[in-house]
Amino acid sequence: MTEETKMSQALVVLSGGQDSTTCLYWALDRFGAGQVEAVTFDYGQRHRIELDCAARIAAQAGTPQTVLPIDTFAVLGGNALTESGIAVQAGVDAQTRLPNTFVPGRNLIFLTFAAALAYQRGFRNVVTGVTQTDYSGYPDCRQAAIQALEQTLRLGMEYAITIHTPLMFKSKADTVRLARVLGALPALADTHTCYNGVQPPCGECPACRLRAQGFAEAGIIDPLIERFQHPAAPYS
Ligand code: ZN
Repeated sequence: MTEETKMSQALVVLSGGQDSTTCLYWALDRFGAGQVEAVTFDYGQRHRIELDCAARIAAQAGTPQTVLPIDTFAVLGGNALTESGIAVQAGVDAQTRLPNTFVPGRNLIFLTFAAALAYQRGFRNVVTGVTQTDYSGYPDCRQAAIQALEQTLRLGMEYAITIHTPLMFKSKADTVRLARVLGALPALADTHTCYNGVQPPCGECPACRLRAQGFAEAGIIDPLIERFQHPAAPYS
């Protein structure tokens, strides 16, 4: 493989959720099938179903997937995504102004490891589904943080890596519309969003509500919901 071809290869951070799955299809469209790999982080998330979803989505897209274990966040504790004793709360903490699903430093660490893996592969592009438009209140999803991290990685690895954030300024409805354009809707039937880790999704938690709102605004039926309502439907 030539150096020029390698420069147009991309590593997608794939969590098994709606946004990262849409990003996978965005990368396949932009860089081409065979030019894209996925990386998934096993960070001790309570809901292991996410990992199963990510593996299935990567396999169906024909994308090689690497799973990297990072168990430090579970040891640090203090958030509702890795600690079973903490329930997901709607809204934000009065002191920190952040939701209690915030895992401090998570995206920064993920993207640093993704960049390290991209470096090993000779890939120059990392793709992540972070968004600040209707973002869940996570400061490390904002463009300023991502741009600063990209600059740090370029300096720290002496390597021209680019972090792509195709959803950064999109609303959830826009992301749903983009998924349709990219042909990603069937794959969204296999994604996991619910903070309560159940299938079919609970429909009540903040993540389920945000997802439902996005599909409703876009006027598109959520293929995940469709899958459970009509098991023999096209998306199953
Ligand atoms: Zn839910």
